[in-house]
Amino acid sequence: MNFSKSEQLHTEALEHIVGGVNSPSRSFKAVGGGSPVAMERAKGAYFWDVDGNQYIDYLAAYGPIITGHAHPHITKAIQHAAETGILYGTPTKHEVTFAKMLKEAMPAMEKVRFTNSGTEAVMTTIRVARAFTGRDKIIKFAGCYHGHSDLVLVAAGSGPATLGTPDSAGVTKNIASEVITVPFNEIEPFKEALAKWGDEIAGVLVEPIVGNFGIVEPVPGFLEEINKHAHDAGALVIYDEVITAFRFMYGGAQDLLNVKPDLTAMGKIIGGGLPIGAYGGRVDIMEKIAPLGPAYQAGTMAGNPASIQAGIACLEVLKEEGVYDEMDRLGEILERGILEAAAKHGVTITINRLKGALTIYFTDQKVVNYDQAEATDGEIFAKFFKLMLEQGINLAPSKYEAWFLTTAHTEDDITKTLEAVDHAFKQL
Ligand code: PLP
Repeated sequence: MNFSKSEQLHTEALEHIVGGVNSPSRSFKAVGGGSPVAMERAKGAYFWDVDGNQYIDYLAAYGPIITGHAHPHITKAIQHAAETGILYGTPTKHEVTFAKMLKEAMPAMEKVRFTNSGTEAVMTTIRVARAFTGRDKIIKFAGCYHGHSDLVLVAAGSGPATLGTPDSAGVTKNIASEVITVPFNEIEPFKEALAKWGDEIAGVLVEPIVGNFGIVEPVPGFLEEINKHAHDAGALVIYDEVITAFRFMYGGAQDLLNVKPDLTAMGKIIGGGLPIGAYGGRVDIMEKIAPLGPAYQAGTMAGNPASIQAGIACLEVLKEEGVYDEMDRLGEILERGILEAAAKHGVTITINRLKGALTIYFTDQKVVNYDQAEATDGEIFAKFFKLMLEQGINLAPSKYEAWFLTTAHTEDDITKTLEAVDHAFKQL
């Protein structure tokens, strides 16, 4: 494959855009460097880059594109929004329709508020939890990503029940001292943290099914225990469903697993590809938000008619009979085929898959927490990533990300992908 135009564009981008990318995860730094491929056009499960190469896409823009690119129903909704005004700064009927749809799908959200991104949604759930409880600290889980607001860019301290350290320059020690990070899927360190800081904890923030160190499901009872102990300590439970909402079923991970949080943040899929976030939860908590209550949150673009109508259209597609079963079926074929190819070529891997989302880890160990994901082989992943790219398979350039199937992928795409996997594994 020839990537010369992508390379040229990246050289030019480096002169004008910091690092040549508008989100660090798009750079190829984590896969040994090089120019990220610049895409020009996308339709269904496919991408075409600026050099004219075609790809099967499993990035799905890091999750939102669950119906495939340029889905006609969503495109029509966006066209309608473009023709009737994309930003009003007033209430619209669409946002009421959409809030009702979200509430119906995820009944733990008794009241909803729209934002522009997942980051904003999570950031505000923390503020609301603090306003409701009158407490300052939060507990989060190592390796879960919750956007780029200061509070969630805090790494674990030296032990499970120590306060955090800033994970990014510009995050102050004071902010880090309000965050405690404990391992995912282990209840004892969490209980230890509560025993130490319990009456200062406003909220416990967790991805109920992790999407940020690969797809990692909670071990049985983990989320139930979090709920119980957090509530006993007077803290709220916040689910970050920015990846998981509408990914595995029409509803959230909370509906799939039947464990309800007090507050939920979401984004990605619910915008049908346009910028969006939303948060919601128990009515007595949500009433702390302005204009009803003292916790402030706002947004010029929040609830804009374009994102909302795209989101409605996306959920309409996802509501159709059998769409999740089909992504699950294709996911199963993909998983089985990858495992067979690995066995054939003597490549050691572990796959975590839930329905239409999966992660390949280059390890012989199970992966249920961040340390295990971190210990997997990044160098082999980097080689695999590039071998797949050269065969027209677009994956996320990081060993921590998932492959996402969409309603646009077909069995034929899976067959072609498995041929590429076979070839890549042969070369590793
Ligand atoms: N929460 C989770 C679980 C995410 O995966 C992300 C983004 O990847 C965010 C929050 C932040 O969302 P956004 O990038 O829309 O700000």
